[in-house]
Amino acid sequence: MSHVNKHFGDLHVLKDINLEVARGEVVVVIGPSGSGKSTLCRAINRLESIDDGEILIDGKRLPEEGAALARLRADVGMVFQSFNLFAHKSVLQNVTLGPMKVRGRSPGEAKERAMELLTRVGVANQAEKLPAQLSGGQQQRVAIARALAMEPKVMLFDEPTSALDPEMINEVLDTMVALAKQGMTMIVVTHEMGFARKAADRVVFMADGMIVEESTPEEFFTNPRSERAKDFLGKIL
Ligand code: ADP
Ligand code: MG
Repeated sequence: MSHVNKHFGDLHVLKDINLEVARGEVVVVIGPSGSGKSTLCRAINRLESIDDGEILIDGKRLPEEGAALARLRADVGMVFQSFNLFAHKSVLQNVTLGPMKVRGRSPGEAKERAMELLTRVGVANQAEKLPAQLSGGQQQRVAIARALAMEPKVMLFDEPTSALDPEMINEVLDTMVALAKQGMTMIVVTHEMGFARKAADRVVFMADGMIVEESTPEEFFTNPRSERAKDFLGKIL
């Protein structure tokens, strides 16, 4: 992202954002509520437009619309706070539909790959159920499998554990740590320090629409440089 700006009316929500994420890198984005973290994620796959600046994915600029945009979106997996599964489709269908529709996979291929992914995230035995029959932690792991089924180049996670009961947070974070260790490129909005310490290469601290600080997790959590980061960490730790 270079020189990215975004307004909602008079509100300047992304202020000259410059952020480069290398292949295989895991970047944790942290910051107070309202600082623009979700807007940043949403801008990356064009769920939000930007006013100026540019965003390149694997060297390519985001297309405005149409089939090219659909393909680009498929390169960017996204997992939200609310699991956003298709409520009336089985777990298996949730994971096979996208690859068949957007990637042109046959039903057989899509199913085989989906079962591999559901096994990887530990919910293969739930494949025939509807999302509502699963726990929140299981649903979120299905959402991760669904995103991975599209073979994305980068995965975005926007507070993936903040709607979960405490006992389910680790099962989702463990899945994400495993993905990070396998070399997936990831941008993760989370306040889970344990995840940042285990998996992040870099922590980006946002406040008021700006990237205020970037450092290693160790540096950030033990020795934040800016007053804003100190203040924020004082509140969440
Ligand atoms: P965060 O994810 O860090 O909490 P957001 O990116 O959701 O922050 O929001 C940044 C700012 O933009 C907030 O002030 C929020 O109220 C505002 N905002 C977000 N989405 C919209 C929208 N669709 N319309 C108007 N304002 C919005
Ligand atoms: Mg948010």
